[in-house]
Amino acid sequence: MRMASRPHASGRVMSGRRAPVVRSAVPTPASSAIGSNLHSARNLASLRAPLRLARSVAVAAASASFDGPSSSSDSLASIDVTVSMDNAPPAGAEGRRVVIVGGGWAGFGAAKHLAEQGYDVTLLEAAPNPGGLSGGFRTASGKAVEAGMKGFWFQYRNTFKLIEDLNLPSWPLTDFTTSGFWNPKGLVTEAPVFSKLPRLPTLVGQFVHTFPLYWALPLEDRLTMLPFLATLADYVSSEERFEQYDKMSAYELFRRCGVSTRCYNEFLRPTLLVGLFAPPEDLSAAAVLETLYFYALAHQNDFDVCWPKGSIAETIFTPLVERIRAAGGRVQGNRLVTGVDVDPSSGEVTSVRAADRTTGELFTYPADALVFAVGITGMQKLITATPALASQPDFRSIMELRALDVIATRIWFDRRVATRYPANVLSGFEPTAGATFFNLNDLQDEYKDAPGSVISADFYHANALLPLSDEQIVQRVVSHISTCEPGFKSAQVVDSVVLRYPKAVTHFSPGSYPFRPFQATTIPNLFMAGDWVKGVPHGANGLSQERAYVTGLSAANLVVQRLGLGSQAEILDVEPDEPHIAAARAAVRGAVEFAGALGLKSPFL
Ligand SMILES: Cc1cc2nc3c(=O)[nH]c(=O)nc-3n(C[C@H](O)[C@H](O)[C@H](O)COP(=O)(O)OP(=O)(O)OC[C@H]3O[C@@H](n4cnc5c(N)ncnc54)[C@H](O)[C@@H]3O)c2cc1C
Repeated sequence: MRMASRPHASGRVMSGRRAPVVRSAVPTPASSAIGSNLHSARNLASLRAPLRLARSVAVAAASASFDGPSSSSDSLASIDVTVSMDNAPPAGAEGRRVVIVGGGWAGFGAAKHLAEQGYDVTLLEAAPNPGGLSGGFRTASGKAVEAGMKGFWFQYRNTFKLIEDLNLPSWPLTDFTTSGFWNPKGLVTEAPVFSKLPRLPTLVGQFVHTFPLYWALPLEDRLTMLPFLATLADYVSSEERFEQYDKMSAYELFRRCGVSTRCYNEFLRPTLLVGLFAPPEDLSAAAVLETLYFYALAHQNDFDVCWPKGSIAETIFTPLVERIRAAGGRVQGNRLVTGVDVDPSSGEVTSVRAADRTTGELFTYPADALVFAVGITGMQKLITATPALASQPDFRSIMELRALDVIATRIWFDRRVATRYPANVLSGFEPTAGATFFNLNDLQDEYKDAPGSVISADFYHANALLPLSDEQIVQRVVSHISTCEPGFKSAQVVDSVVLRYPKAVTHFSPGSYPFRPFQATTIPNLFMAGDWVKGVPHGANGLSQERAYVTGLSAANLVVQRLGLGSQAEILDVEPDEPHIAAARAAVRGAVEFAGALGLKSPFL
């Protein structure tokens, strides 16, 4: 049986609504019970306050139009809009009001730090529930679904520190797991848990520990990647080099480096389709190099990945909301930000305008600083709707960027089918989309004792699949997983959910780097965060929750620097380059400079 898929809402907010009432979101005395609680509760006791759930809000939201990547008609961990009208700014933060737009990792990273520093923080999120692309909700029958399965990699040090800091009742992530890589002919290879194996210098460790494993790809094809790996040492040698690599597609780089067609088709292309959600011909070579370096190559253990043991919205974001509120911050769901006001004389943002998606009411939030932590598509809509943003060249550049489509599914079967790996990457099953599937019985507490199998399966770069019906999408998933694990051939689907996220994910397309925004903008009190901003002083790269969270922390630091209250958030960087990589990079830098001085062509590009 199929369940209704999440409607991808489109169209403009407020359309077809009753005439909106314009209200100021400046505190009124008529605050709700929970709102007034918050202000007496800037103490630790409130951290343990029971969380309020607002299912009714979510139901109303289903009828609202929303151009964001996801919305939920049936959310469990909804952000409770009843706290919206609270009250006086926290003591010591008078005049230091920070509005944060976007309730994903980036927005929550900024909101938590700034609330804890005593700022008067308001986080506004268009969806009813927190998490952004890591969000989720429960279906009418109480089943948890999410915007795709999210892995947490070995170098996600800031995310792990946040989770520790939240003092959760139990650690919400699994141990690092193995993963299987499949094509329609069968298993291609597997990824071991590298951190359980003796640690060797990077690249040597990955080669030695994967050598004895099964590989459908012959060694001579794998070895054709070596010249490509050498370019890793070159692309970081200067900003100029980076921009040169950015203009080139990853396909072109692989071709120039002599990567074999088989290695490209059976390994690199599918890996990038699930890693950066686009085929190499449509990916910046620079983005590919930095992403591969961060996720797999800088240190032997970097490819180790663990998975959430339950819904990220429930296990991590809900306690985060609670923590921010306990620190005096406001977190408001169903608030679609529609524009900002800029003082023409100072050139600074003075307020943020938003619409309540359930009631149609309009609100104005005075702001001394603003952090936009929305994705590319959301930001483009804001720029289009806001003359003060559209008049700035750095914001207009954002209109050059593109975003990608994904489809997330969750499927319940009538019987248990064991899978060889809990996490699986599929290559060549779809002509233009990447795919993964996960055995939730093995990964998530809720499904451990479920009578039947529960599978989460996602399609990336899913443009060609979006027009299919939910039934057709579920059939494709079942066909693909049955190819890998034939036990599914006799299993019946008893329930399924298909979620569509058009234009929701950052596309690191060739030549996109110059158009990506820095965190500080031409509007002096407006800062950007999200996995797509550039110039972040941290080694996390690509489509990464860690990167998004780190950009939230660094946006918070820019706010602290500007408004002067509190201290900077500590940001833990990735482990430094190993000595042989650092030496190789220095040597390459020297060789390129030497070649340049002699008027010779670089050996790399
Ligand atoms: C299927 C899938 C699988 C993924 N797998 C992984 C993985 O395994 N590991 C990993 O680390 N990362 C993964 N990612 C990437 C990761 O989820 C993102 O990098 C990260 O969540 C981005 O966070 P963010 O805060 O930058 O943006 P988002 O999560 O996109 O948050 C932006 C928020 O802004 C809100 N918004 C937009 N416009 C407005 C507006 N006008 N007013 C108010 N709110 C607005 C949106 O509703 C949204 O909630 C995956 C992503 C997807 C979709």
